[in-house]
Amino acid sequence: MEWSTGDLIWFDPGVSHWLPGEVLECHKGANVLTVQAVINGKPQTFALTNGEGSVRKREDLGTTGVEDMTQLTDLHEAALLWNLKLRYDRNSIYTYAGSILVALNPYRMFDSSYGIEAAQRYRGKMIGALPPHLFALGAAAYAALPNPQVVVISGESGSGKTESTKLVMQYLAAVAPSAPRGQALVTEQILEAAPLLEAFGNAGTARNDNSSRFGKYLEVYFKHGAIVGARVTQYLLEKSRIVTQAPGERNYHVFYELLGGLSNNEKQKYGLVEADKYFYLNQGGGDCAAGHAGSGADWGALSRAMQVLGVGESEQEGIVKILASVLHLGNVYFHRRQLRHGQEGVEVGSDVEIKWAAHLLQISANGLQRALTTRITEARSERVHSPLSIDQALDARDAFAKALYSALFNWLVTRVNSIVQRGGLHDAARISLLDIFGFENLSENSFEQLCINFASESLQLYFNKHVFKLEQQEYARERLEWTNLTWMDNTPVIHLLGKKPVGILHLLDDESNFPKASDSSFLEKCHYNHALNENYCRPRVGGREFGIRHFAGQVWYSVDGFLDKNRDALRPEIVELLASSKEPLVSAIAKPLFTQAQTRTLPRGANGRFVTMKPRTPTVAARFSDSLQQLLESMSKCNPWFVRCIKPNNDKTPMRFDMPVVLEQLRYSGMLDTIKIRQSGYPVRMKFQYFVERYRYLYPGKLPRGVPYRDLCRGILEQRPINLTAGPDYQLGATRVFLREGLERQLEIARADC
Ligand code: ATP
Ligand code: MG
Repeated sequence: MEWSTGDLIWFDPGVSHWLPGEVLECHKGANVLTVQAVINGKPQTFALTNGEGSVRKREDLGTTGVEDMTQLTDLHEAALLWNLKLRYDRNSIYTYAGSILVALNPYRMFDSSYGIEAAQRYRGKMIGALPPHLFALGAAAYAALPNPQVVVISGESGSGKTESTKLVMQYLAAVAPSAPRGQALVTEQILEAAPLLEAFGNAGTARNDNSSRFGKYLEVYFKHGAIVGARVTQYLLEKSRIVTQAPGERNYHVFYELLGGLSNNEKQKYGLVEADKYFYLNQGGGDCAAGHAGSGADWGALSRAMQVLGVGESEQEGIVKILASVLHLGNVYFHRRQLRHGQEGVEVGSDVEIKWAAHLLQISANGLQRALTTRITEARSERVHSPLSIDQALDARDAFAKALYSALFNWLVTRVNSIVQRGGLHDAARISLLDIFGFENLSENSFEQLCINFASESLQLYFNKHVFKLEQQEYARERLEWTNLTWMDNTPVIHLLGKKPVGILHLLDDESNFPKASDSSFLEKCHYNHALNENYCRPRVGGREFGIRHFAGQVWYSVDGFLDKNRDALRPEIVELLASSKEPLVSAIAKPLFTQAQTRTLPRGANGRFVTMKPRTPTVAARFSDSLQQLLESMSKCNPWFVRCIKPNNDKTPMRFDMPVVLEQLRYSGMLDTIKIRQSGYPVRMKFQYFVERYRYLYPGKLPRGVPYRDLCRGILEQRPINLTAGPDYQLGATRVFLREGLERQLEIARADC
């Protein structure tokens, strides 16, 4: 390309992101370009040699940028990035890509932009009528009822998904008229469910002080515009966190809130001391203080939220007992013990904690001690207690704590639903809000990350399907003039992970149901079946890991513990112990575990021995895949609204826009292609007759009679000034008219003026 003095350009001076500059001089012979850029308020000059590859023309975005990135004529990632930066620097955290909302985390509260007044301002407004905002999407979804709507909120950990979900919910609560007969209460209950579930399901991690460690699908039901109920579905609470945390990370908030909130007297009642004395709370070496960024909740607020959700005093006490017993369990330790016949076993180091746990759970202390130090095997129809090794005893202790806590979490979700999911909702309209874990690539990745990233891939596919695939199939069916755009299709990775019979999650399931299998045999099967798959990577010799090329980057998964985590088997004696509890809440939460363990109790073979792992019972991966499938099915019936949350920097710093960090997220979320198709495609479509009836007043004079609707439609559209930035901004298909979002907005404004 020929450059001349004064040209506006993007260039990369070797910092792997783009800067806006201006050409000062061009030395054509020497192939050198002198350019100037303003960096931190100071003009700087750069000499670019053979810089053709990293210099391109720039559209002037002024000092404010554009509200909707489909208005950019210069479609290049630099323009997207710079536009977002210009806006972010002026405190505008929201920007559209057509009707998709890009939301940059401000890491700072803007109270004025989220109040009731702001909510009322957006009410009934189309997208684009006011500055970009989450409330605008909320308003559009609300206006599109009674057709089912879903707001899909995606982004990586710490990007703002959970905050955005709560804001959309607050918007709906603010604008939906209050319904008669105690329905106002249901709205309050739905709002209170969020901090309650966060206390039990969120934790401080390296990337987010209030990271959701479970996925959440909240369906909000409406009748005559008013909120009448809701339903929460949770996905895959991270159990390992209950017993172990990485450096700098924390356990679930509720433990710290509990210890910070109880008086000394109350603590004594449960045998509790300060947080830093508990092994389950102090492994991360981090902060053990109560409260957390995000909701700032304390035990008092949590207790009030529980009350609103019908968790009475005695149940609350039951919850405290369970939480306290988890902490006591974590402090149980073991010594090796020499047994008869040279066998080695374990004994508990001190039985104080066992006694406390047994007392709080109202179970037998002896029974608990035995369950943690021995295992029951049956030989010739006799039950024999055989000793556990020290590692097995520690595992048994941790498994017990994890089972208790996760059963409590499940019980809470069921309880919330029993309160907010009132009867008679089958004919109600709904807006669903999806806040599910974002893509994860940690320094060590395990089974949990594989499941999370499988969910991420599936949602990316849902997004791609809506934005690209279905869209272009529709153009073809309607015979529009259209050159297909390509996009990053991640179906091959989803097949690699989830397709029957040899997708990695299926291989894992097979191995989990096979008694002699091990993490190593699982790894071998993965290598054997997928070594040639271009999205699969084998490690260097001997590595106990496999790599997957995800849409958002390559992740290495270390296979140690995969099988156990997937089997998630609870020994029947532990379940029996819990079910025998005299504390009503404990036996209540144990009930679902009982059915789970029963299906896993093994039938005997003809020789009187147990036949291991038969019949096949659903493993964690199988259950998770099923629930993900159900989720996608439910979403496929809805009209989607997408929110792409973006993390502006990796240090949780307010209002700092770190260009490489944002650029990476723009790249893997396919934002550039998304904008291209939103800009050159026709996301809005209407039946000819509907269009004519809606916009007939835009036709000067009377509409002619006896003319087909398709021609009338063209007649109305031809009245509009022609805009040819990227081809015509409408096309007449075989059965419908297709419009760009910008043209629809103009038509709506003109219609309102008529
Ligand atoms: P994870 O996947 O780890 O759950 P997330 O995407 O849900 O992450 P959030 O918990 O919503 O991330 O946001 C992280 C933090 O960023 C919040 O605790 C809050 O401090 C800040 N934050 C996010 N969105 C906003 C907002 N709109 N206004 C102010 N602060 C925000
Ligand atoms: Mg979250």
